[in-house]
Amino acid sequence: MAKLKKGTRCTICKAKGKKEKAIVFLPHHRLALCKKHFIEWFEKRVEKTIKEFKMFSRKDKILVAVSGGKDSLALWNTLNKLGYEADGFYIDLGIPEYSEDSKKLAITFSERIKRPLHIVSLKEEIAPIPVIEKSTNRPACSACGTVKRYYMNKYAKELGYSIIATGHNLDDEAAVLFGNTLSWDIKYLKRQYPVLEEENGFVRKVKPLCKITEKEAALYAFFNNIEYIEYECPFSEGASSIEYKELLSQLEEKHPGTKLQFYTNFLKKMYPILKEHEKKQSEEVSSCKICGEPTFWDICSICRLKEKVAAGN
Ligand code: SF4
Ligand code: ZN
Repeated sequence: MAKLKKGTRCTICKAKGKKEKAIVFLPHHRLALCKKHFIEWFEKRVEKTIKEFKMFSRKDKILVAVSGGKDSLALWNTLNKLGYEADGFYIDLGIPEYSEDSKKLAITFSERIKRPLHIVSLKEEIAPIPVIEKSTNRPACSACGTVKRYYMNKYAKELGYSIIATGHNLDDEAAVLFGNTLSWDIKYLKRQYPVLEEENGFVRKVKPLCKITEKEAALYAFFNNIEYIEYECPFSEGASSIEYKELLSQLEEKHPGTKLQFYTNFLKKMYPILKEHEKKQSEEVSSCKICGEPTFWDICSICRLKEKVAAGN
């Protein structure tokens, strides 16, 4: 986030004839804001994104994927403040130290906002992530992504939620888009939209923070005294998405607004073309022969993962 010049006043306070000092500068929005108006700006921006993409209404029951990190907790806090019916869902991945610390923070936050947090233990469902990584020879993050998607979907249905909201921010979305563009991965590019409709046993999935940067989410959490896990998961080291994030942040420093433009122009200009392409080549979804959950194969990836873990023990 760019530095503030000494003595800069809050843009909104100034317009109202007040003289509050700004403590945040958002160069790509040309806004200097005081704490109160930054929080207001953040929540309004999330609400605007929810409306722009018709994500959900106040009648929907929303399940927020909570990791204990700043993004998911900032999202949960915002939805709660905006009056949405949003509860939390935490998957204990069984990663030593990291999972224990993040779980505690997720529980503390759910108590603070007095909303239920559903907790699922991967150890009880299959095995902890480090065990899955060893017995399947699959990178931890790839197995972890599959596991999170599967259990979020399964439990959202079982618990009666019609929407799954995740805390993916603009930096996440721009980095993934950058990676998928480098390899022109059409299969993934055509799924890169802030709303994935409910279909074939998949619950509707939304990303209300897709136009909020990582730094803005961290500031929002800080200003609201939200305690979140401040260190990365040990498996995140060396992930290519982190390199892409750094590259894009360097560009952003020089040309504020690059990330937002890259992402929103994709949504406006490229996504509709890919969507058309998808209609012509839709993949057949069936039900897993073992667990009944939706899958593109006979047996879903989680049931195959379970078989591998069982064989490895
Ligand atoms: Fe899972 Fe990888 Fe994220 Fe760790 S870094 S929580 S293993 S996806
Ligand atoms: Zn299955």
